[in-house]
Amino acid sequence: MEKVILAIILVILTGCNINNIPKEEVQNKNETENEVVNMKTDSERKLDLAPTITLNNGIDMPVLGIGTYSLHDDTCINSIYTAIQNGYRKIDTAYMYGNEEEVGKAVKKAINDGIIKREDIFVATKLYPNQYDNPKEAIEEALKKLDIEYIDLMLLHHPGTNDEKAYKAMEEYVASGKIKSLGLSNYYIEEIDNFLPKVSIKPVLVQNEIHPYYQERDVVKHIQDLDIVVEGWYPLGGRGHQTELLNDETLVKIANNHNRSVAQVILRWDYQNDVIVIPGSSNPDHIKENISIFDFELTEEEMKQIEVLNRDEKHDWY
Ligand code: NAD
Repeated sequence: MEKVILAIILVILTGCNINNIPKEEVQNKNETENEVVNMKTDSERKLDLAPTITLNNGIDMPVLGIGTYSLHDDTCINSIYTAIQNGYRKIDTAYMYGNEEEVGKAVKKAINDGIIKREDIFVATKLYPNQYDNPKEAIEEALKKLDIEYIDLMLLHHPGTNDEKAYKAMEEYVASGKIKSLGLSNYYIEEIDNFLPKVSIKPVLVQNEIHPYYQERDVVKHIQDLDIVVEGWYPLGGRGHQTELLNDETLVKIANNHNRSVAQVILRWDYQNDVIVIPGSSNPDHIKENISIFDFELTEEEMKQIEVLNRDEKHDWY
């Protein structure tokens, strides 16, 4: 009885009216108290999330995500779930990684647990050249494996026979709303300039190898001048190349200046160059560390010191 009286007093005092409740809370009013708190927490925690960039089609995308190359089964699901818990809102996968299903499972688990809503997360996948012959079947397969209603971004993994045909099929899926944005990967100046006139929807993003030893400054500038976002794969040099890069004398010195790790310095350097990054990791400490780069700044001098580390040293063949 006391509780009822208290509730009535509270309603009178706050002038409670369902129209005054923010839309998000109305949408979730059937959920448990905890879930509503989580939803609110997510939007309130904006400071912990990576900033977003507006793509050339008007869609916002986080500037940092988790890469999933070589992550499989529960390791993949747990890594992505940990990443989402720690503020990641972008995931990079591909048909070739063989883990689209796990990526979808992790996203659905985070949605079911009330950490995110579908529209909070940005999932990118890629078609591989052996799929360009029969692209619609390949897109349907990706949609089915991910099973998260739509794909935020689909890329062509690298140039190959029938890449134009594959891209045009992806354009049809943009029209039907099943894919939101399109992009390319491993296309360089000549390939991009040849490809763009052949398609109707401008790619929003090109994903290429970029790290301090392989900076591709001319390619990055060319792509950015086209109002296309550049995303760097192998930001930490790629698996098997960490030892040298993460112990680089110049980078270690800069990291010490800021009391940060070398990985954080590299990811911050990309951010200050407007390059999106998708570092891969299954280690919860590294996952947390890699997104904690938005509260310090490299000086112009430090940016120049990293620029001269370039050796045009590619770590993969695409
Ligand atoms: P990466 O450069 O991100 O390095 C990953 C390695 O670094 C892992 O071994 C990880 O354990 C380690 N690592 C991660 N964070 C660390 C930290 N803070 N300190 C120390 N070590 C750390 O290489 P990657 O994952 O292969 O590449 C990133 C993503 O790019 C891939 O997961 C994939 O999504 C994408 N990719 C795309 C292409 C393409 O052709 N489009 C090619 C390769 C990779």
